[in-house]
Amino acid sequence: MAADSNLSFAFDPHADPVPVSERDQLLANPGFGRVFTDHMVTIRYADGRGWHDAKVHPRVPLQIDPACSVLHYAQEIFEGLKAYRLADGGAALFRPEANARRFRESAERLAMAQLPEELFLESCRQLVKADRDWFPQIEGGSLYLRPFMIASEVFLGVKPSSEYLYMVIASAVGAYFKGGAPAVSLWVSQDFTRAAPGGTGAAKCGGNYAASLLAQSEAIRNGCDQVVFLDAAERRWIEELGGMNVFFVMDDGSLVTPPLSGTILPGITRDSLITLARGMGLTVREERYGIDQWRADAGSGRLREAFACGTAAVVTPIGTVRAPGVEFTIGNAGPGLVTEKLRSALVDIQRGIAPDPHGWVERLF
Ligand SMILES: *Cc1c(COP(=O)(O)O)cnc(C)c1O
Repeated sequence: MAADSNLSFAFDPHADPVPVSERDQLLANPGFGRVFTDHMVTIRYADGRGWHDAKVHPRVPLQIDPACSVLHYAQEIFEGLKAYRLADGGAALFRPEANARRFRESAERLAMAQLPEELFLESCRQLVKADRDWFPQIEGGSLYLRPFMIASEVFLGVKPSSEYLYMVIASAVGAYFKGGAPAVSLWVSQDFTRAAPGGTGAAKCGGNYAASLLAQSEAIRNGCDQVVFLDAAERRWIEELGGMNVFFVMDDGSLVTPPLSGTILPGITRDSLITLARGMGLTVREERYGIDQWRADAGSGRLREAFACGTAAVVTPIGTVRAPGVEFTIGNAGPGLVTEKLRSALVDIQRGIAPDPHGWVERLF
């Protein structure tokens, strides 16, 4: 398989890209996940042939057969990472090798072909270079990259597909929250869980999201922004939100975050914040934290701050938590000092403002 990772990418430039004036208009206020660039990457896989046909080409709709197996059995995985505009006008990826590894691990869990990590990395680099004019020139603007892979064999039998289609698309995005993150309110789902032991909770697959949407709607119906899931076995331990990990900041300055027990997505933001916090001399414990404890600690003041984290929104303070007949507020229900300190430490590294002692930033140009 060594030859696979040496695949070179063909480049088929867009003959009719979005006109500059129209692009500028789109980039003035891109929001999140609605404005897409001119190009995309595709790489194909077939059993017996391996990875082939790597190319950067104009972004086009897909034509797939209605019997394509992903449409029936949801063999699909994805990643999310950003290309950041650096303070000096260049651009960089943040820890992309961690996304490449996680993508391979997700593929393994979903019984899919594993894309060599070097090909994943090269696909991201190539797309950012092809669409380098799509960075929004606004505060917090970046290119959000969405590598993903679907089972593409045309067959209705239940088995791992023999063919896969890997793609990367890019979306120009502004700051997820304008003017700094407001505190979010969370709904503690009673009836639904996200992931069970032995399931796919640690894999980044679309199916996990499909399963979380009803709980998320319930959160909205109850006046909350996001759902927070409890563990499936005891319905007691805090796991994570639908797409973000969580941290708790105690009154002694220490942090607690749920351990990677197999039912939680191993977030790269989570891992980076653990490293940064420890570098600041803070104690971080990866240990289980129960919903009853959360409520008691918020009431007693032992818990000072809580926040959620992920690539899209980076760090988001948690203000209030609700469940049927329960409501509690954390700290001053706004961004706390430790939350803000960690958020700015991370963002400053991502934007090339602060030194990068861990080698997390890969400059592209
Ligand atoms: C992607 C994701 C996260 C955050 O991961 P990052 O690598 O920090 O972006 C957290 N939880 C779930 C369920 C996710 O899918």
